[in-house]
Amino acid sequence: MSGVYIHIPFCKKACSYCDFFFSTNLSSKENLVKALNKEINLRSDYLSNKNLDSIYFGGGTPSLLSHEELRTVLETLKSHFTFGKNIEITLEVNPDDITTKSLRDWFQLGFNRLSIGLQSFDDEELKWMNRAHTATESLASVKLAQDAGFNNLTIDLIYGSKFQSLKTWEKTLTTAMSLETQHISSYNLTIENKTALGVNFNKGIEPPVSDDLSSKQFIMMADAFEDAGFVHYEISNFGKPNFFAKHNSNYWLQQAYLGIGPSAHSFNGNSRQWNVSNNSSYIKSLDTDQSFFEKEELSVNNRYNEYVLTRLRTIWGCDLNEIKAQFGEVIAKHFKNGILVKKNFLIEKNKVFTLTKSAKLQADGIASDLFILD
Ligand code: SF4
Repeated sequence: MSGVYIHIPFCKKACSYCDFFFSTNLSSKENLVKALNKEINLRSDYLSNKNLDSIYFGGGTPSLLSHEELRTVLETLKSHFTFGKNIEITLEVNPDDITTKSLRDWFQLGFNRLSIGLQSFDDEELKWMNRAHTATESLASVKLAQDAGFNNLTIDLIYGSKFQSLKTWEKTLTTAMSLETQHISSYNLTIENKTALGVNFNKGIEPPVSDDLSSKQFIMMADAFEDAGFVHYEISNFGKPNFFAKHNSNYWLQQAYLGIGPSAHSFNGNSRQWNVSNNSSYIKSLDTDQSFFEKEELSVNNRYNEYVLTRLRTIWGCDLNEIKAQFGEVIAKHFKNGILVKKNFLIEKNKVFTLTKSAKLQADGIASDLFILD
């Protein structure tokens, strides 16, 4: 099975912390959708397995596309791929775009999973984030989606901001769980230089994020969600059993995926490629049959490093036997030597290595110490 990711690079407003590729100028939306359809037609042979178990519309804000625009993209996909019986078709949506009508449209089109960007239940914090919705809309949007028949919902939260003490975070977790969604993604606020938050931070207007506080918030969150029956299956992701995100899991399990749209990445097991991060260049290149992506062939060391980086973040962990089979004896030996040094951070079960709860806070650093550098 394989998956398709569609990047919709438009947003109503620029959130202060956001480092994704998007534009707040929606004037090229129609042409961009035409270009997306053309790219799907051009690249339908990229995946050797044409049976899809996941389609993910991310962004940006895919809920800004009209019913007709979403329909054409889905129809184009359908003309080239087989949609598996249990396919997961996710639409990222913002609470301010959720209405009874929009939900009905998405349901009719075949979307069976919504990822709702709530981020916070505090109006002051939402304003500081420059989000386009209020806390009341956050709460109402989930209820509306449930009433419309969506029974596979995920919400996004952010922790580690200057607005959150341990006490207010605890309240946020309680509210999040009361919404009874099947999945929750929760990310530690990171300050990226090119964002409005990063600029203000570099000017000294915004305080640094407290690592100590966000670590405590992480542990509090993991305990609370696990107690409520969620499985902590990736550092930032919690799912009820049978509701892990197929799209993200495919990525963490090194499955092939085709990325369509500006800035989208694709992976086929041997190479990775990424589209130009510019709406005009993307549209123009597709229109004039010019190249619109860059490509990197992955060496065995690259593939091993990516395996360690992604697997260590998950409950599936790094499997020594799999490493041996996929990357050979020499690399397996390198991994074995590395984990001896890192043994205090790891749990071993049948030669599969996962991180302890507290070590999850240092996942990327631990993974990079296990890398092979060319
Ligand atoms: S809506 Fe999402 S993609 Fe758009 S700016 Fe905000 S966080 Fe970024």
